[in-house]
Amino acid sequence: MKENFSKFIVIGDGIMAKSLIFSLKDLSSDITNISSNSFAPACSYTTTAINCLRGTEKGTSKLGDLILESYDNFVEFYNKHNPKGISKTIEEQNWIKDGETHGKWLRRYKEYEIKDKSIFYNKNFSSSLAQVHTEAYIISPNKFFNWIDEKNNISKIDDFIISVLKTDNGYRLTSQNNKVYTCEKLFICTSYLAKSFSYLCDKGEDKLSLEKQKSVHGHYLYRKNNFKHDFILENSFCMSLDFIRLAYRKETDDFVISFVDTNKENFLVDEKKINSSFDYFRQTLNIELGEFKQWDLYKGIRSKGHQRVPFCKEVSSGCFIISGLYKNAFTFSFGFSKKITNSLDH
Ligand SMILES: Cc1cc2nc3c(=O)[nH]c(=O)nc-3n(C[C@H](O)[C@H](O)[C@H](O)COP(=O)(O)OP(=O)(O)OC[C@H]3O[C@@H](n4cnc5c(N)ncnc54)[C@H](O)[C@@H]3O)c2cc1C
Repeated sequence: MKENFSKFIVIGDGIMAKSLIFSLKDLSSDITNISSNSFAPACSYTTTAINCLRGTEKGTSKLGDLILESYDNFVEFYNKHNPKGISKTIEEQNWIKDGETHGKWLRRYKEYEIKDKSIFYNKNFSSSLAQVHTEAYIISPNKFFNWIDEKNNISKIDDFIISVLKTDNGYRLTSQNNKVYTCEKLFICTSYLAKSFSYLCDKGEDKLSLEKQKSVHGHYLYRKNNFKHDFILENSFCMSLDFIRLAYRKETDDFVISFVDTNKENFLVDEKKINSSFDYFRQTLNIELGEFKQWDLYKGIRSKGHQRVPFCKEVSSGCFIISGLYKNAFTFSFGFSKKITNSLDH
């Protein structure tokens, strides 16, 4: 059997793999990228993808500090490369002051404004609205991925890896299509399927941490901005009422609506429940959203790290596993890519 050798092999075609390849290219262009989106769909293509700190503060937890550091790396990337498919805007978070969720929001935000009405809301709520504005980056995944794939400029192999062996000078991978790939260094960016590679970990604690990761389902509604409404859409925006969030993506002229996570471990989506949340949301808005049936429903599977902490480690010499990025994947990816590339650059 013919073996294909490369210096680096990156498994995965999601945000983690793409941002890592973007960064690794500074060290070598001898990179092979393998993934199978037909066998294991990348969540990164079916996501609402918003980067926003939402009250995260320095010094309150290790996870919070990691989010802040990675957010800075993302902003540095954005400012340096001005990528297509990402726009900078402000997220407006609303909730009903002294309503059921008021206490929950106070744990996140120390300060808020009081509004009798939001520019987005037409409903007379029982109480005033509490409102917070935070910097946010709205990402249109397909457009951004076209941009980054073009910059990465490496051919992708559509194949599913079924076995990895450590050899004297690297790693030997076997695929579903009975192909063999060898490399000096291996990067596994396979999200919730990363736990299948846990046998590669030298340390028991790393193996255990990967095995404790969970697959968490999420869904959202999508529609192109092709309907009649009189709201002038000059820029991307993002606004939420409690846990229902609407984002308009100027870059691709479309909308996404995401909901609080329900049925986290269930593959099927409860469409009836989404329909009624959509109806409630629609009644509160000044923006015309049209009918529920005019929206497309999408879902994706995320990987939630043990105690929500993402996993990024060299688990054995020359083999890195990065997974468990959960709700902050578009932030963490940039921090981890930088960290890994710096560790190899000597
Ligand atoms: C509804 C929803 C809303 C979300 N909102 C946000 C948000 O606002 N902000 C945010 O940052 N994140 C958000 N997320 C989470 C985010 O989308 C995911 O965490 C992220 O896409 C995961 O990226 P990844 O690169 O780790 O994995 P994925 O994108 O899932 O990619 C995994 C890749 O690994 C490949 N693969 C797996 N096993 C193998 C194998 N054995 N051989 C070959 N290839 C393999 C797959 O084919 C795939 O290409 C949301 C997710 C959902 C579902």
